[in-house]
Amino acid sequence: MGRAIGIDLGTTNSCMAVSDGSEIIVISSGEGPRVMPSVVAFTSKGERLVGLVAKRQAITNPRNTISSIKRLMGRKYEEVEQERQNVAYEIKPNEKGDASVRVFDRLYTPPEISAIILQRLKARAEEYLGEEVTDAVVTVPAYFNEVQREATKAAGRIAGFEVKRVLNEPTAASLGFMEPTERKNIAVFDLGGGTFDISILQLVNGIFEVKATSGNTHLGGDDFDQRIVEWILGEFRRDNDMDLSEDPVALQRVREAAERAKCELSSTLEARINLPFIASDEEGPKHLELSITRGLLESLIEDLVELTRLPCEDALREAEKTPDDIDHVILVGGSTRVPLVRKQVEEIFQQRPAHNVNPDEVVAIGAAVEASVLTGQRKDLVLLDVTPLSLGVETLGGVMAPILEKNSPIPAKKSRMFTTAVDNQQVVNVHVLQGERELVEGNRSLGRFELVGIPPARRGVPRIEVSFEIDANGILNVSAMDAVTGRAQGMKVNPSGGLTEEEINELIREAAANAEEDRNRMKLVEARNAADQVIYDAEKVLETARKELEKESWQELETAATSLRECRDSEDRIRIAKETSRTSSLVSQTSKLLDIVHSGSVEQQDDDEVYVLEEDTEEQEQ
Ligand code: AMP
Repeated sequence: MGRAIGIDLGTTNSCMAVSDGSEIIVISSGEGPRVMPSVVAFTSKGERLVGLVAKRQAITNPRNTISSIKRLMGRKYEEVEQERQNVAYEIKPNEKGDASVRVFDRLYTPPEISAIILQRLKARAEEYLGEEVTDAVVTVPAYFNEVQREATKAAGRIAGFEVKRVLNEPTAASLGFMEPTERKNIAVFDLGGGTFDISILQLVNGIFEVKATSGNTHLGGDDFDQRIVEWILGEFRRDNDMDLSEDPVALQRVREAAERAKCELSSTLEARINLPFIASDEEGPKHLELSITRGLLESLIEDLVELTRLPCEDALREAEKTPDDIDHVILVGGSTRVPLVRKQVEEIFQQRPAHNVNPDEVVAIGAAVEASVLTGQRKDLVLLDVTPLSLGVETLGGVMAPILEKNSPIPAKKSRMFTTAVDNQQVVNVHVLQGERELVEGNRSLGRFELVGIPPARRGVPRIEVSFEIDANGILNVSAMDAVTGRAQGMKVNPSGGLTEEEINELIREAAANAEEDRNRMKLVEARNAADQVIYDAEKVLETARKELEKESWQELETAATSLRECRDSEDRIRIAKETSRTSSLVSQTSKLLDIVHSGSVEQQDDDEVYVLEEDTEEQEQ
């Protein structure tokens, strides 16, 4: 087996890491940040966009931009009422009743959309490592049931991966943070863009046991952004008597600026929001210039942060732990960078969270540790995972009889004897269930099969052995055997999360065909990212230059920046690169002028810092 990568396939962002033998390296998404937005978009020109570029055009193409697909993984249409209301794209049932996404008259299952994200990550990892990558460990929330885990595995297969292990996210976070050598109680507080999960784990002899999970599936950094957006819109309305919310492009810029300001306020006390040419009226262009303090941000989001308290208290109670019992608190998810969130965590758990953890990357790092164990790169560590929920069968009166209890270390195998309920019963119906409720109704049905041909006998006499075997990925095989005849029957819990083997193979072929297009798209994304950085630099420099220099000294830069902003979203990556390079040089020149009149007020740009594409671009140009 070659190298295997660890993938945190997140609701908002995804991240990947790999072991290089001695340490774990996080593989950059190639888009600037090391994480990649888990967003896929389809354009009217028939293109597929993935990651940052897809996220950026969401406002102007809402019906064909798919975000938060993880919320639909392995779920039935009737279970996703809330998601249907929260997204702008169309969620429809497929012929099997699975929640699917309709884009331009084609229905995509959630594993297919997730596969597009995974395929992009795979291409990026291969580019980074310079070798083919086929094996992966993919993480899922601890509360994911069998079907959701299977759906995640199917997504991996469609993308061309062999998914070696589906690992619980809090387990991965713990593994990314510490060596599982001693007995510990760990709280994993995971606040991302749109979900909040709290898990209490206990580590004993290398086994991570998820003692309790709780959370809020609709709470995260996106809600913080929304509060800032509302504040910005209100300020602009007050000063200019104009409503920006009606202009999708302006709103998108406001949303991005709000998120940027929020992130900046995690490390500074004040952030400036500068959006030149945000709107115009008969008097000319309008610029949005505001400043927001950390204090103001905290007052805008206070009640949202408070919503994390109750689930933490519930999880502690369910795990029968007090804050004193917790040895480590690990923060996961970008939104745990917000100081108010950290303060809240400290208050709840009465201790400082672990400080040497990168909340965006720790889950992927843990997945990579697991990958290195599974590929034999690391031999000093044996990691066992556990079943997140109990598995069992239906018995008389609609009661569930558990066979594999919640938190059984996996892989695991266990059997239990059953018998017939009526005289001369020749068929038993094995109904496989997952969940913690005593009654069948409250649990999830994973499937049914029949064992036929039981010799006639009085009720209670036949002995039927039902065996549950769960492999290292948490994938379940169930069999039932009549002890007298030896006749057996069994099932594997839907091995694909809603897709048939044939459908998966077809999707694998299709995905491979799209790989080349994806690579080109990735280069375009990189060019756009370089452009964004330069646009950002130009705005910063212009802000000072407008105040301090003659118009002719900054006008050329402003024209170049406007032109770059206009072409940034085009498909012409050669033009984007050229305009980026031109604007970047002008940023340097203007910075130098500013330095002369106002020494030290603007950071000097490096002369050599021009942005160009790789050499093959030049060839294409000729
Ligand atoms: P995740 O789902 O873990 O990728 O987290 C994404 C969320 O984290 C988004 O709402 C981001 O805006 C937010 N985020 C990322 N970095 C920061 C930061 N430095 N400060 C505050 N929020 C952040």
